[in-house]
Amino acid sequence: MPKTEEEKGFVDIVNGRYKPRGKFHIIEKNQPIINKDTGKLAGVTNPRDMTYIHSYGGEAPFFEGIGKGKLLATRCDNPKCDSKGSIFEPFRIYCPDCLRKATIVDITEKARNTAKIHSFIITHRSGAFNTLPKPIKFINVEFDEEVVTILMSVLVVGEPEIGKRVVPIFRTKDPTYTIMDLMFVLEGTPESELPEGFTF
Ligand SMILES: [Zn+2]
Repeated sequence: MPKTEEEKGFVDIVNGRYKPRGKFHIIEKNQPIINKDTGKLAGVTNPRDMTYIHSYGGEAPFFEGIGKGKLLATRCDNPKCDSKGSIFEPFRIYCPDCLRKATIVDITEKARNTAKIHSFIITHRSGAFNTLPKPIKFINVEFDEEVVTILMSVLVVGEPEIGKRVVPIFRTKDPTYTIMDLMFVLEGTPESELPEGFTF
């Protein structure tokens, strides 16, 4: 059942401190589990409704970016590092080779012009809380040679094939501020075929 405003938990940061308000734990009546063959009690259900506070830390710019139609990555700019110039997507706060803080770079155009399917998996049965349309077409996205990593995402329009060109789409209308704001479609997909709330 959708929650009312009074049943939701909200968090603000004021003067550098987390300030939760509202409800984060909602109690619900449990139910007995009865063995219908014997009429005896076998256990209980244990309903839990809690709101988890997930801090993005140094990855926050990535999630803010996708809701605004921008794909941010990071790059090692340490002149003494063998990986200097390497771009990381998914977004890495620190270079894994020299452990220096990496520089945030915008790779939206690079993704539009070079992203292609490296490999893919089609999932017919999902786990709990899935909201993606099934079957889910998970794709591993490869960019140009400057980007040294592979990004896991979802192809929402078109059929996946290794080597096919894809372009990113962003949930810029009412973003969720999660990875669900970034998906991919095959290159050449018209804007009218994008899922509700998404733009190129
Ligand atoms: Zn480095």
